[in-house]
Amino acid sequence: MKTIIITGGAGFIGSHLTKNLLEKGHYVLCIDNMFTGSKKNIAPFTNNPQFEFIRHDVVLPILLEAEEIYHLACPASPVHYQNNPIKTLKTSVIGTFNMLGLAKRTRARFLLASTSEVYGDPEIHPQTEDYQGNVNPVGPRACYDEGKRAAETLTVGYREYNGVSVGIARIFNTYGPKMLPNDGRVVSNFICQALKNEDITIYGDGSQTRSFCFITDMVDGLTKLMDSGQPGPINLGNPHEVTIKELAEKILTLIKGSTSKIIYKALPKDDPTRRRPDISLAKKFLQWEPKTPLEDGLETTIAFFEEELGIRNG
Ligand code: NAD
Ligand code: UDP
Repeated sequence: MKTIIITGGAGFIGSHLTKNLLEKGHYVLCIDNMFTGSKKNIAPFTNNPQFEFIRHDVVLPILLEAEEIYHLACPASPVHYQNNPIKTLKTSVIGTFNMLGLAKRTRARFLLASTSEVYGDPEIHPQTEDYQGNVNPVGPRACYDEGKRAAETLTVGYREYNGVSVGIARIFNTYGPKMLPNDGRVVSNFICQALKNEDITIYGDGSQTRSFCFITDMVDGLTKLMDSGQPGPINLGNPHEVTIKELAEKILTLIKGSTSKIIYKALPKDDPTRRRPDISLAKKFLQWEPKTPLEDGLETTIAFFEEELGIRNG
């Protein structure tokens, strides 16, 4: 049994990771400032003697002991991370600095939840880890993209100069139960809109692509990276690529009886035109690849939101 810190543990990915690690018998210290986290996400664990919740902002240092640190704290939805760009940068940079300091002091292995956004609007396709990216440093996504790029630099620095064991995961779009209904990300938006018979809002003409990974596959990838001792960066994501229009149509097909219509809204500035991970390194070093087909993952996610919103479809 290990003592494991998960920053951002009350968020979407963090709460699934918590469940996975508790089931394996570990002791989980969840650190979260509850910006986009929810009590509901961690409610199933609060009576578990192996689980501890600490309300804390990673921008401030904290003294704890642990053998592993999964550093996930950072809002992930563009709506939330653009809400206060300076805070987002502080979370990514100062927060990562603090957690790496903790890793150094306690000799813990440290995993950074980085992102495909480090590639910006990519000029090569699919994206490999050696691609250095095309990020606008002064655009609306910069606080998140540059924050994560700096977090990667810090992580590599602590490895090279302080000997900290680190792993950098470049996470591509991930979806599943426990996303917030008002999160603003595309899967939760489209499903909630379709369930409520509201217009499905496609930004732009819907020809931009994303590749969606189901949450259980992502948690499996993150734990494999932690256990492997590999430094990364390693792409974690599902290479199955769809246009946003195809995603909207698929969700409408799965939510039978929805009377929602697709409408088109302005494309946000710097919205990446296409995104698909090359996962050769994850296959080679982690023996990992996603198993859940998009349709199956969407059905599970739709069932979650039906329950959440109290709406039955079909
Ligand atoms: P989320 O918004 O659901 O979870 C983030 C959690 O971090 C929340 O619980 C939030 O309250 C907490 N948090 C934010 N700022 C904090 C701070 N200063 N101090 C302490 N806690 C703080 O997002 P998620 O989808 O679960 O993403 C988790 C991580 O994975 C993030 O680092 C994100 O950048 C990364 N990621 C996610 C995706 C995705 O598709 N979900 C893609 C790429 C990268
Ligand atoms: N998007 C959309 N309608 C929505 C929400 C998002 O068309 O209601 C688009 C968005 O413009 C982007 C894609 O869906 O092209 C994925 O958006 P999301 O915010 O989920 O994540 P991103 O990959 O852009 O960080």
